[in-house]
Amino acid sequence: MAGNADLVALARERLYPNYRPAPIAFVRGRGCELFDADGRRWLDLCAGVAVCSVGHAHPVLAQAIAEQAATLMHVSNYFYNETNIRLADELCRRTGYERAFFCNSGTEANEAMLKLARHYFFARGETERVRVIAFENSFHGRTLGALSMTGTAKYREGFGPLGPVTHVAYGDIDGVERAMGPDVCAIIVEVLQGEGGVVPAPKGFLEGVRASADSHGALLLVDEVQTGVGRLGQFLGLGASEIRGDAIALAKGLGGGFPIGCMLTTEGLAGALPPGSHGSTFGGNALACAAALAVLRILDDEKLIDGAAAKGEFLRKLLEQLVRDLPGVCEQVRGRGLLWGLVLRPGLIAREILAAVQSEGVLIMPAGERVLRFAPPLVVSTAELEEGVRAVGRALSGSASVRAAG
Ligand SMILES: *Cc1c(COP(=O)(O)O)cnc(C)c1O
Repeated sequence: MAGNADLVALARERLYPNYRPAPIAFVRGRGCELFDADGRRWLDLCAGVAVCSVGHAHPVLAQAIAEQAATLMHVSNYFYNETNIRLADELCRRTGYERAFFCNSGTEANEAMLKLARHYFFARGETERVRVIAFENSFHGRTLGALSMTGTAKYREGFGPLGPVTHVAYGDIDGVERAMGPDVCAIIVEVLQGEGGVVPAPKGFLEGVRASADSHGALLLVDEVQTGVGRLGQFLGLGASEIRGDAIALAKGLGGGFPIGCMLTTEGLAGALPPGSHGSTFGGNALACAAALAVLRILDDEKLIDGAAAKGEFLRKLLEQLVRDLPGVCEQVRGRGLLWGLVLRPGLIAREILAAVQSEGVLIMPAGERVLRFAPPLVVSTAELEEGVRAVGRALSGSASVRAAG
């Protein structure tokens, strides 16, 4: 069997080099553990970027996928299929939204929301409403429509001209008002900026964004691709009792590793994308929907969403202790549920620290320049969280002593 070195050599020859992966080739996983081609065990506290919500190789999810694959995978959207209908019903029941559109990724769910907003106003004869208000450091995906809304220069550079989008500082409600105009069709916002550095919305901000959209007749689109499906300790990051969007996007954790994205809308927007105006060949296929239904069942059966809130508090305390122990390298901790960022002091580079954490056998991710991001599978144990934070502590102590010596 090929080991890491052989596989990495072949990868470097054959894979398109748009990524910069660590030289580790994984071959299997179980829960929060991954095993590479040399047989080494790793502790996974990033869950494939908040995707593997029920952990690796969950037997219930694996069995649901296997059974559905052996029954019916795909029929196209010229016809209905049962798991698709049941998933739409389940998601609407859990969120209070009324209509579900399925696609294959977070980017596609956001692209659908953008087209929904444009077409909603087009159909009402308000054809001047084409501009979107989005936020600096936001991440909404990489297709040209979604990229237009993404507020991060390094992803946008070289791909212009992009669509008409005004980027406002996240949290700046006066800035939203200043950017508003009769040509705005929608505001798109994350409940907590994930890729942008694990930045929770300031208090009152989302309510202010909702009010601004309402007073100018624009739609509010909520990107819950990273925060939805239990990650923040509630089914939606936005919560049940707070404000609501006109449409929301889900993806990442929804399929537990199987690709699926979803746009949920209110009934009032059901006519905005009439038959033929938008679609997807693969979107909502029976196999992807069976995977998502199994994930929802596992979240319920194992009480993983309440668990995310409780274990998130445990992780927060561990990280806060780290900040107290290593004030020279750690600045603060922020996040919610099982999505946390450890903010490093200016001058430290998250990517460099990650290499040291990796040499301890622990996998976490960067978020922005100097934030270490923890997004473990929701099945993580408190012992695994302790193991991970201890490894990060050792890596950071190393960098602290290097800094002191330098
Ligand atoms: C990851 C992410 C996306 C893009 O999702 P893909 O599945 O990579 O297309 C969009 N929005 C947010 C908030 C994300 O975290």
